[in-house]
Amino acid sequence: MILGSHVSLNAPEYFLGSVKEALSYDANALMIYTGAPQNTVRKEVSDFKIDEAALLLDEAGIPSQHVIVHAPYIINLANTVKPETFELAVEFLRKEILRTRLIGAKVIVLHPGSHVNAGEQIGLDRIVEGLNLSLKDNDDIEIALETMAGKGSELGYRFEHIAYIMQSVEKPNLIKVCMDTCHMSDAGYDVFAFDQLLDTFDEIIGLEHVRVIHLNDSKNDPGARKDRHANLGYGRLGFDFLHQVASHPRLAKIPKILETPFVNDLPPYKTEIRMLREGRFTDWIIE
Ligand code: FE
Ligand code: FE
Ligand code: ZN
Repeated sequence: MILGSHVSLNAPEYFLGSVKEALSYDANALMIYTGAPQNTVRKEVSDFKIDEAALLLDEAGIPSQHVIVHAPYIINLANTVKPETFELAVEFLRKEILRTRLIGAKVIVLHPGSHVNAGEQIGLDRIVEGLNLSLKDNDDIEIALETMAGKGSELGYRFEHIAYIMQSVEKPNLIKVCMDTCHMSDAGYDVFAFDQLLDTFDEIIGLEHVRVIHLNDSKNDPGARKDRHANLGYGRLGFDFLHQVASHPRLAKIPKILETPFVNDLPPYKTEIRMLREGRFTDWIIE
């Protein structure tokens, strides 16, 4: 199983610290934000200790495809209401592509964006425009659009949204997908009929385009469109379902990344990764 989690990236070790954190969870994949997830302030990549991190990744046998970058969630390529929001998103993404290449990663996960009540089709076309601008000088780093919960005016909660973007951009070969289990359930997909869901996904988008899976339980009922992650086995999806996804033969080569909440201010990832590898849930959270 290729399992990891979102890990931090902080002074003084930055990316080297991220890799060390992932290894401390017995992970063989990891996902970072290149700074705070909620803003676009970024340090110089030259401080990131990339060479030392690369050595450590190599020693651990973690290939570059298992290192995922997640763009901050405030950037919004779908915004047609405030031009400066759209421009900031494009500018940020262009720089994020450079950082991702320097780090040695291949894939940036991106929330497609919110149309902020301009309408879905207008939002989708703005995303296409934004991706075209962002990808101008790039021919290697892939953007994995995340399947979203459909909170507010968020796009990407239908597989068709993602397919439309992929079919409309100038460089479709660079647009890939991140499947989020919590989001797909929140969006109203019947995740428990999982093989059928994979067939549906395959028909609309193509399973070969999935680059990463976010493995999260959900605090809410299917279709709630709330987007609140729960610890594995402590939400509406349940441990058995999440273990089925983690060990599914059709998804075997795809890294699974946990974005579950901290428990008593501590990351739960070492325990959750162990449970997934063992295929056995233990009730470990004491409230
Ligand atoms: Fe995300
Ligand atoms: Fe996610
Ligand atoms: Zn989420």
